[in-house]
Amino acid sequence: MKLIFVSGGVISGLGKGITASSIGRLLESRGITVSAIKVDPYLNVDAGTMNPYEHGEVFVLDDGGEVDLDLGNYERFMDLHLTRDHNITTGKVYGTVIENERHGRYLGKTVQIIPHITDEIKRRITSVARDSGADVVIVELGGTVGDMESMPFLEAARQLGRDLGREENVMFVHTTLVPIMGSVGEEKTKPTQHSVKELMGMGIRPDIIVCRCSEPLGDSARAKIAMFCDVPTDAVISTPDARSIYEVPFTLERQGVADYIIDRMKLRPMTSGRDMSFWEEFVNRVVNPEREIEVALVGKYTSLADSYLSHLEAFTHAGAARRCKVRVRFVDSDDVLADPAGTLSGVSGIIVPGGFGTRGTEGMVAAARYARENGVPFLGVCLGFQIATIEICRDVLGLRDATSTEFDPDTPDPVICLMGEQEAVKDMGATMRLGAQTVSLSAGSRASELYGKDTVSERHRHRYEVNPDYIERLESAGWRFTGRSECGTRMEIGELDGHPFFMASQFHPEFLSRPGRPSPLHQGLVDAAMKYSE
Ligand code: GLN
Repeated sequence: MKLIFVSGGVISGLGKGITASSIGRLLESRGITVSAIKVDPYLNVDAGTMNPYEHGEVFVLDDGGEVDLDLGNYERFMDLHLTRDHNITTGKVYGTVIENERHGRYLGKTVQIIPHITDEIKRRITSVARDSGADVVIVELGGTVGDMESMPFLEAARQLGRDLGREENVMFVHTTLVPIMGSVGEEKTKPTQHSVKELMGMGIRPDIIVCRCSEPLGDSARAKIAMFCDVPTDAVISTPDARSIYEVPFTLERQGVADYIIDRMKLRPMTSGRDMSFWEEFVNRVVNPEREIEVALVGKYTSLADSYLSHLEAFTHAGAARRCKVRVRFVDSDDVLADPAGTLSGVSGIIVPGGFGTRGTEGMVAAARYARENGVPFLGVCLGFQIATIEICRDVLGLRDATSTEFDPDTPDPVICLMGEQEAVKDMGATMRLGAQTVSLSAGSRASELYGKDTVSERHRHRYEVNPDYIERLESAGWRFTGRSECGTRMEIGELDGHPFFMASQFHPEFLSRPGRPSPLHQGLVDAAMKYSE
């Protein structure tokens, strides 16, 4: 078992997840199999209960795990399908230990952070690593070294180094910040030195130090960090600001990171790896677009771009396929309500993504109406699908008060309603319908054309659905349900007759979008938007 721990120092938001993902991508390119784990030192058991403003979007996995958005980066960079066990939280760890204690499994011992919590952390990491069967597992430690919350995880990581062998089997990559100060632009290495000292105080000597800096690191700063942090100079890596996150694997490759790791861990590279030429072509298309369009994203968490990270990535993937840069204009749905034409003027497409709760939903309805009436390409996802259905119900069928029972439990026209509880339980064991589910597409529909097949698997996260009592009327109004659940009872995709592109899905296509394999629905929107902009 070989583990690479990736920690962070100085500040959060250094792109640890991208560093971890990029290392994985490079190892894969040598034919080494890789998996990844994210450790989040918070007490929430999973990200499902968290507002996107806390840590960005909640990413959803095939198995229905609601996890940190970094797992999305791992899946996109390394082309993996992860499970909920790949996101280890303090909440999960304590939950298990407390349950064990209640069952008397500690045989009368005093239950403590060390060894019981640290043992449970080690058990979780090693069992995921074993089950994955990967040659190397990258374990990203969330938070910043020095945080109280992270300490049990760092201690567990240190112990794993001892247990598995620090020589070949466990490496530590520490990411830090090198700020540039003053008019002469001097690179400051002191914060890096301090955070490495902090790490060493926990008994961990880093093997590689990845320095985030706005500019490439100069030789003297590199030498200084190597000297004072006690690593070889070629283990000090510089990751300057990149044009695209997808460029970072090349930044690391140029500095020999993958070879350094392979050498240290005595890995056996193979020539049959997923070579980087496809990635290179993809990055080239991302950073050298031939044209540009703008799409409005209408939501209620628009002041934090990370709330919609997977949509942004899906647009990058779909845009790259056409050598087109997709600029995303974040528009607060309340602003759309006040002035649809003003806030949406000049965009070539509109997306209404997922969300929960009543706030902002009327503005989303206004955005859907604007798109429908003005022939602007539109994509609704999850909540956006429900919003589009409500809009059509109100304005085309004339049911003025139609809405979702999520927003008004007493509405006379509950066109969106809670899923049949029984069925929801059958689906996922909970009232929230989560994870990968099969969707059947109608022959000859735009949906089946975009997907190029007639059954697809997509990820879900919803509690409400289209009320079966309204399906016939909606379809007669031109809102045709061309994607349905396998049993046929649950509406999954709507497409509007007589509009250049007005589509929506109950599932989240953004979670399976990958470089070179864009989400078909985002591709559909981008293509229609490109046409519209002409
Ligand atoms: N709030 C809606 C529901 O629960 C939509 C959920 C979502 O957009 N993820 O069905």
